[in-house]
Amino acid sequence: MKIEARLKTNESKVMLNALTIDVEDYYQVSGFESHIRFEQWPDYESRVVGNTWRLLEMLHFHRVKATFFVLGWIAERYPQVVLAIHKEGHEIASHGYRHRLLYNMSREEFRQDTERSKGLLEDLCGVPVVGYRAPSYSIIQETLWSIDILRDLGFEYDSSIFPIHHDRYGIPHASRFPYFHSLSEGRKLLEFPLSTIRLFGRNVPVAGGGYLRLFPYAFIRWGIRRINEQEQKPAIVYLHPWEIDPGQPRIHGSRLSRFRHYVNLDKTESRLRRLLQDFRFVPLRSLGETMTNGHRPVKGLVRQNV
Ligand SMILES: [Zn+2]
Repeated sequence: MKIEARLKTNESKVMLNALTIDVEDYYQVSGFESHIRFEQWPDYESRVVGNTWRLLEMLHFHRVKATFFVLGWIAERYPQVVLAIHKEGHEIASHGYRHRLLYNMSREEFRQDTERSKGLLEDLCGVPVVGYRAPSYSIIQETLWSIDILRDLGFEYDSSIFPIHHDRYGIPHASRFPYFHSLSEGRKLLEFPLSTIRLFGRNVPVAGGGYLRLFPYAFIRWGIRRINEQEQKPAIVYLHPWEIDPGQPRIHGSRLSRFRHYVNLDKTESRLRRLLQDFRFVPLRSLGETMTNGHRPVKGLVRQNV
C-alpha cells in the first residue's frame, strides 16, 4: 500500500494533512455524560451554531477545507449551520445521532443510531455521506465489529481509532497511519487513525483537540513536521466548535473531566490559526482519494479543490 498525500507546487512537494471538526455542543461531550442525560440536552444554552460559524469564517480566511463530523441531533435542530458548512465546500460526515459510546450500545442500536445520522445528513445536503467518526473515539478492540456495519451502511472510511492508551478510548497497537480494514467477503474500509508521534517507546498524541490545548504549540508543530517530513505521512487533526469558546457555561463534572474540557480554551483559536498557517490541510475524503490500492482510487471518493 502506498500513500501519495502530497500537493505538487512549483517549489516543492507539500505534504497534505486532514483537518476534522466534530460538530457537537459543550454539554454533549462524553466527559459530562454521567452528569447530563440525553433528555436534558434541550435545557442547556446552545452555543454550537455561533462557534461553528466562527470556525467557518476562520477556515474561509485561511482558504482551508475540512471534514465536519456532524452529530445527527445537531443536524436535526440546526440544519442551517450544516447547510452552511456544505455550501462552503467542506465535507459533511457522520458523528452518530446522539453521541452514545459504542461500547455502551448493542450492534443493532449502533446500526440504527448511525443509519439515522447518515440519512439525516444526506437528506439535508443531497450528497453521499461516506465518512464516520465514533463519539469519543469509542471504536476500541471490543467494538471493532462496528467496522463491518459501517461498510454495510455505505461508509467508505472511518476515523475513530486512536492508537494510544487512554481511560475512555484507544487501540494502542493499531497502525499509526492510514490503512484498510479487511472485512468479510473481500470488502475493505479505509481507516484514518488520529495522529501520534513515537516518543520514548510510546505513541504520544499530537492530533489537536485537548492535546492542542494542553501541549505547547511548538511541540505540536514539531510533532506534525516529524510525521510529514521524517515519516512522510499525513497528519489527522481534530477539533470541536466548543474548544474556541472560552465563555461557554461551566458544567460541574468530575475534576478530570473539567480539566480536560476547560484547560487553555482561550488559547485554541490562536493555536488553530498557527496550524492553518504552518501546514496544508484538506478534507479526509480528499486524502482518501490519494491512497492507492493497486492504483485504483477509493470508490466513491471525489476530488476537492486543494
Ligand atoms: Zn464527539
